[in-house]
Amino acid sequence: MMLGYLLARAGLDVAVLEKHPDFLRDFRGDTVHPSTLNVMDELGLYDEFLQRPHYALDRIFGVVGDEPIHIGDFRHLPGRAKCLVIMPQWDFLDFLADKARAFGGFDLRMRTEALDVIRDGGRVVGVKARGPDGELEIRAPLVVGADGRHSILREKAGFVPEDLGAPMDVMWLRLPRNPEDEAAPLGRLVAGKMLVMIPRGDYFQCGYIVRKGGAQAVEAAGLEAFKRSIEEIAPLFRGRTDAVRSWDDVKLLTVAVDRLKTWFEPGLLFIGDAAHAMSPVGGVGINLAIQDAVATANLLAAPLRSGRLDAADLARVQRRREWPAKVTQAVQVFVHEHVIAPVLAGEPPRPGWPVRLLDRVELLQRLPARAVGLGVRPEHVHLPLARAA
Ligand SMILES: Cc1cc2nc3c(=O)[nH]c(=O)nc-3n(C[C@H](O)[C@H](O)[C@H](O)COP(=O)(O)OP(=O)(O)OC[C@H]3O[C@@H](n4cnc5c(N)ncnc54)[C@H](O)[C@@H]3O)c2cc1C
Repeated sequence: MMLGYLLARAGLDVAVLEKHPDFLRDFRGDTVHPSTLNVMDELGLYDEFLQRPHYALDRIFGVVGDEPIHIGDFRHLPGRAKCLVIMPQWDFLDFLADKARAFGGFDLRMRTEALDVIRDGGRVVGVKARGPDGELEIRAPLVVGADGRHSILREKAGFVPEDLGAPMDVMWLRLPRNPEDEAAPLGRLVAGKMLVMIPRGDYFQCGYIVRKGGAQAVEAAGLEAFKRSIEEIAPLFRGRTDAVRSWDDVKLLTVAVDRLKTWFEPGLLFIGDAAHAMSPVGGVGINLAIQDAVATANLLAAPLRSGRLDAADLARVQRRREWPAKVTQAVQVFVHEHVIAPVLAGEPPRPGWPVRLLDRVELLQRLPARAVGLGVRPEHVHLPLARAA
């Protein structure tokens, strides 16, 4: 959506396909990091965007055992954004879609699922898709596969990602949120268990972390045991877990960390999770995908406009974005191996001295805020506005 917005803003014709009828998916995560907010600022959308309901967190903390641990202070970041914003992704996407529609060349096709690439003369020249009125073909000088970690275009085009492994999956559910929960942490860890808690109005979107493939065993132990387990991790939910009435209220999300060796072939480019699937660790995946979109638009708008886009242009996108993706995935894999896997194996979480130092020395909390909030190689919009909104 972001790439569609940027290319339409630069005066190009762009069709964005979305297989669902709306953006009401829970799995997407809600974290809008300062890197993304700064992009919104560069696009002149910051103030209007933040008129949508959201939570702005300028400091973040988690609870380890019974101990609150402060891990990030966003208040001193360079750039306009000095906080992490929590906003359901459907609101973010609806906002971008509304803004993009103001540009003549933007064509958002909901309920239209890309099925395969079309090749001609050794290059990709479009996609086959299924829309509300049946199957169709869309021809384009460039197809961008931004269809997520289970990318069908990646599979059909014969691209196989390298799997870096992930020790966990996430069981996603909603639990009631009361006014007095304003200062609740974003996550809780106890021996053997972890719970992520994302505030959304009158409920928390919660992620109950299980060992990879462990959800079946959790289900086999029964819904009551599952609810008790949640109450053990987060006592604030005592008496509130009845909101989970059946397993239908709990969605399993599998976590993958993988990446493509090559992100492109003539006429086809992969970005976001389709090129490098991110774990939920750090809540950075959405933001990395946005950064990919900004870099792609910066590098490809001119060759697309001149009709001279070639594989070397696509290679430039990979060269620019591969390093940030690799560094971020390396940190995620480190956290998987050194924090998440031991906790899920039942070890009592013990914050080491670096974490305790971080908690005590406020100045140090600026470092993780910068690493997570701005990321590696933050992108800036370098595109002239070609069509008036
Ligand atoms: C459990 C879990 C929690 C996470 N939490 C966070 C978080 O809090 N913050 C964060 O930043 N990241 C989080 N992530 C990572 C984040 O979800 C991804 O990195 C991010 O969504 C990638 O964005 P994307 O646009 O590349 O793909 P996606 O967000 O997956 O978007 C792909 C889109 O393409 C559509 N689509 C798929 N196939 C087709 C098709 N064939 N035709 C048409 N449309 C199609 C999908 O419906 C979807 O709208 C989490 C990941 C997991 C697994």
